[in-house]
Amino acid sequence: MESNALNTRTDSSNDPKKMPMLFLGHGSPMNAIEENEFVDGWRNIALEIPKPNAVLCISAHWETKGTFVTAMKKPKTIHDFGGFPKELYDVQYPAPGSPQLAREIKDDIQKADIGLDEKWGLDHGCWSVVKHLYPAADVPVVQMSLDYSRSPQDQYDMAKELSSLRSRGVLIIGSGNMVHNLSLIAWDRLEAAEYGYDWALEAGKKMKAFISDGDHRSLIHYQSQGKEFQLAVPTPEHYLPMLYILALKEEEEKVSIFNDKTVAGSLAMTSFKIDKR
Ligand code: ZN
Repeated sequence: MESNALNTRTDSSNDPKKMPMLFLGHGSPMNAIEENEFVDGWRNIALEIPKPNAVLCISAHWETKGTFVTAMKKPKTIHDFGGFPKELYDVQYPAPGSPQLAREIKDDIQKADIGLDEKWGLDHGCWSVVKHLYPAADVPVVQMSLDYSRSPQDQYDMAKELSSLRSRGVLIIGSGNMVHNLSLIAWDRLEAAEYGYDWALEAGKKMKAFISDGDHRSLIHYQSQGKEFQLAVPTPEHYLPMLYILALKEEEEKVSIFNDKTVAGSLAMTSFKIDKR
């Protein structure tokens, strides 16, 4: 039964407008239940975007061999973290899935054999931010995994094949952090509204310059960008979702940066929206 069917393919002929895209710096899982300026930033950006038919979220917290999309009708809320208050474990985000959208993504992508997953669900990289965008949980959400066996270039090239989803009313969100080094977190500065190590600020500045220059090549080859980048991206999973979003940027589109702050020394909350404006 496909009662949740989106019929996005038929809708697209009536509405050639492309959905904007988002890269969201998600930071601490506590952002799911706290009130702060980053949460406000996410809420505000949702108001600038037409309500989507569905969300496709590429989350830092789902790494697999091969690429998968969640294909179940009712994805569960996954509490994939430890040591947080009970209040956070109590959060449920009951957005429906979309088996149909999962199938469409599988059909659209030629550069990988996309697996249809029935076991995952929504991890906190996804629900901790999407719950602020669509608190009623009334927009179907599909997640796509990061294939740790493929290079950043390969993943960037594959992401381009998601392009037609935008004309079908799908909001594509990359959720990670462009600067993310948990082993160097400044534990004594967790409460500061803003605090970044010099290297973290420098790496963030260079990344934003590459983004505004459209120099995706340098961003794909982040490992060759020197010491600041190596510290900022010690492992790729929080950085790669950003490349998926940039891969889909059209020439005439603009990048609008928001939540542009570094916290706890080594965590950039910097987020952006891409659209024609
Ligand atoms: Zn994370």
